[in-house]
Amino acid sequence: MQIKLSFLGAAQNVTGSRYLLETNNTNILIDCGLYQERKFTSRNWDPSPVQPRNLDAVLLTHAHLDHCGLLPKLVHEGFRGKIYCTEATSEIAKIILLDSARLQEEDAEFKRKRHEREGRRGPFPEIPLYTVDDANASLPLFSPVKYGEAIQIGHGVKAIFRDAGHVLGSSMIRVEVSQDGEHRTIVFSGDVGRWDRPILRDPTVFDEVDYILVESTYGDRVHEAVTDISDNLAEIINSTHQAGGNIIVPSFALERSQEILYYMNQLLIEDHIPHLLVFLDSPMAINITEVFRRHPELFDEDMSKLVREKRSPFGFPNLIMTQTADESKAINHIVGTVTVIAGSGMCTGGRVKHHLVTNISRPESTILFVGYQATGTLGRQIVDGARKVRILGQRYPVRARVAQIHGFSSHADRNELIRWLSRPGMAPKRVFVVHGERESARQFGKFLSNKTGWNVSVPEYGTEVLLE
Ligand SMILES: [Zn+2]
Repeated sequence: MQIKLSFLGAAQNVTGSRYLLETNNTNILIDCGLYQERKFTSRNWDPSPVQPRNLDAVLLTHAHLDHCGLLPKLVHEGFRGKIYCTEATSEIAKIILLDSARLQEEDAEFKRKRHEREGRRGPFPEIPLYTVDDANASLPLFSPVKYGEAIQIGHGVKAIFRDAGHVLGSSMIRVEVSQDGEHRTIVFSGDVGRWDRPILRDPTVFDEVDYILVESTYGDRVHEAVTDISDNLAEIINSTHQAGGNIIVPSFALERSQEILYYMNQLLIEDHIPHLLVFLDSPMAINITEVFRRHPELFDEDMSKLVREKRSPFGFPNLIMTQTADESKAINHIVGTVTVIAGSGMCTGGRVKHHLVTNISRPESTILFVGYQATGTLGRQIVDGARKVRILGQRYPVRARVAQIHGFSSHADRNELIRWLSRPGMAPKRVFVVHGERESARQFGKFLSNKTGWNVSVPEYGTEVLLE
C-alpha cells in the first residue's frame, strides 16, 4: 500500500485542523482550519504546505472556524477541487466564513491605521489573511453529501460521512483506500460529540477500522454531570425575575445559542419559568438557527417530537429574533425582566457589550455564562470576579450577579472518547491522538494505550506517516 498521512494542524494543539492523505494517485485534505491559539496564528500566514492545485478534494468535518477557516485562503492560492461536507455544514460554513473574512478585513484596516499612527510595522503584513471576495469564491466549491452516502474521489478512494453529534451537520469521515486488491480504512473523528445531548443525535461508532485519528480536546478530564442545567437555569431566571433585573447570556452563535433556547423551551413547557420576553440578539445566531430550522432531518427523537407537536424551541411564544441594530437597542428600553442571548460568547465583541453596559452595574440583573472563557477576555475578567471592567472604552463597576452554568460542552470527555473508541472487535493497527493541547493529548494517548494495548501515538506538527 502507498498511503501517506501528514499532520498539518491540530497536532499537539487544538486549532488549525488539517490532515493530508496521499495515495498513489489521489490527494485529499481533511479539514482546512484556522489557527486560533495565539501561539500558532503565525502559521495561518505560511503558504499552503500542499500545492493547492494538486489537491483532488477537501473533506470538511464541520463548520467551526478551526476546521474550515483557511478554505478561502486555499482557494485564493489556487485550489479548484470540491469541498465535500453535509448540506447543513455548507450552509453554516458560508455564514461563518463570510463573517471571518469581514473580521480579517477589519483587523487589517485597524492594524494599518494603528501602525501608521505609531510609525512602525507589525510582524505580519497589514493585509487581510483573506477577503470577503476570497470567501465568496470558495462557496461554489462546496459539494453537499448525505450521511451514509459513499463518495468516490479520484481513483481508489471512497469517503463516507457519518453523524458526529458535535454541532449541526458535523461529521466523522471514514475513508477507504483500495490499491491492487487491498483495502485500508481510516476514520477521521472530527470533533466527537456527546451522548444524550439536546437537539443532536449521538455520535456514530465504527468497527473494523485500520487507522483512527481521534480528537482529545477534553481527553484529560471528565465533564460535570449535565442533569443540573435545567434546574440552575430555572433558578437564575426566577430569582432575576423576582429581583426585577435582566438576564444577559453571552453565547456562541453555533449550537450553544440553540441549546439555551432548547432548555428555556423545556422550562416553559413544564411551567418552571414565567413567560418572559426572550431575545436572540445576534444576526449570526439567528441565521444559524434558520439552518437548524431547515434541517429537521438531523434532529434526535426528542427534538423531532417537539417539532411534530409544533413546540419547537426555535419558535416559542415571546421569543424574538432581533436582526437589526435598532431592534437590538430597543431592548434596553423595555421595562420588566427580559432574557437576552447575544454574541460574542466571551464578550470580546458583538452586541452583548451594549447589554453589559446597561446591566453590569445593576445588582438586580444577572450575567449568565454558559461557555468557556479564555484568558484575557472580558468574559474571563467578569467570571474571575473583577470589581470594575472596561466595556466600549468606559469603566463600569460590576454589581450584577455573575452566574455560570457548567456542563454545556459539545466535545466528548475522556470517558466518552473511550466509549466512542470501544467497539467489540475493534483493534485498529494504529490510533493517532490529535486536536488537543500537548498535555491533554499525551495523557489521553497514555490512558488509551494502557487500557487497550493498542498502538497509540501523538503526532506533532508536520509529522508524516506511511500507512501500511
Ligand atoms: Zn468543533
